[in-house]
Order: sequence, then structure tokens, then C-alpha cells
Amino acid sequence: MKSLVLASGNPGKHAEIQALLAPFGTRVVTQVELGITEAEEPHDNFLDNALAKARHACFATRLPALADDSGLCVDALGGAPGVHSARYAGEPRSDLRNNEKLLDEMSAHDNRSAHYECVLVLMRGPGDTRPLIAQAQWHGEIGRRPRGGGGFGYDPLFLPKNMDQTAAELDPEEKNRISHRGQALAKLLEQLKMEP
Ligand code: IMP
Repeated sequence: MKSLVLASGNPGKHAEIQALLAPFGTRVVTQVELGITEAEEPHDNFLDNALAKARHACFATRLPALADDSGLCVDALGGAPGVHSARYAGEPRSDLRNNEKLLDEMSAHDNRSAHYECVLVLMRGPGDTRPLIAQAQWHGEIGRRPRGGGGFGYDPLFLPKNMDQTAAELDPEEKNRISHRGQALAKLLEQLKMEP
């Protein structure tokens, strides 16, 4: 696949997915670059939102479209912020305020277990009735204070399992190798390889 449209305008997701697909010679263009508006994300689960986003971008551009619906699920908060991760602290979207709110909500909790979840959907064209779906989780804990300047979103507060660094302190290549997004994309590529 020479190029595909990413059904997102999130620069963090774009950078990670472009780096993961660069070795295959695939150029990843965001829907924002093509002037496509954001899709509605009305569903309470990652899969339905990812399908809605992929369809929206694919029908609008007639190009292969990749959607990523992802978020942070915290056990002590009953899975929140989950599908609401991007706007946890309301509009306008702000990673800083989301992280502040998360620390605030977690102040009374000793159970810091959490995981990132990522669902990817690839629609190869508007007529694709069997879009490819891949999902993965990345387990860890919520730290007590933000650390690191890399990554995006909740990465400064996310301590991957068995690691001392936060996700924001990892090299981008290391994060992509082990993250929810990196693992989901590896599974998607595996399915593409198996196709006739
Ligand atoms: P979406 O664009 O509706 O899928 O929302 C994704 C949101 O989940 C992002 O805006 C972040 O808040 C969070 N998120 C997803 N993946 C990551 C990640 O790799 N690092 C940090 N935050 C993430």
C-alpha cells in the first residue's frame, strides 16, 4: 500500500503510525491534511468508534483508510477515561488538563493498575465489506507525578509493567515496539500478509 489516509488528526498517533509503516514504503496522510472533518464517535466502545472513523475517512477520500480508536482504562476508575480519554477534562482537548484530572481522580486510590487499549480498522476502499480489525492492550500503572517529554496524551503518567520509565521517557522506537498501537499494527500487518 503506497499511501493511506489516517482517520485522525492526532499528531502523536500520526507520528507513531508513520514511523511503524515507513519501512514498508507507506506514506500516511492525515484526514486533516486532506480537509476531511472529524467523524462522530458516538459509541461506548473502541471497536464501533474505529469502524465509524475508518468508514468516514474512506468514503470521503476513496483512499484506503486506517482508523485508530484508543484510550487509557484505569481499573480503580471502573475503566475511565476509556473511550472518553481524548476529552476527559472537557473541551478544548488538552493533554495537560487530562493528566491533571487523572492525578486528581487517582489521589484516593492505591490500586494504580491501568492499560492502554488500541483498536485499528483498515478499510481498503469504499467497497470493502470485510475491513481488517486488530486490537491490543498495553498494561501498566498510573504514576504519582508526570515524567518525561516524549510520546503524547497520558504517557508522562503511564508506567509500563516491569519498567522504571514512564511511556514518555521511552525512545519512540521502544514505545512503538511494545505499545498497544505498535502491537495492534503488527497484528494488522500479519493479516495483510496472509491475504491472497
Ligand atoms: P481517540 O482519538 O478518540 O482515539 O482518543 C485517543 C486518546 O487516548 C488520546 O487523545 C490520548 O488521550 C489517549 N491515548 C491513546 N493512545 C495513547 C498513547 O499511546 N499515549 C498516550 N495517550 C494515548
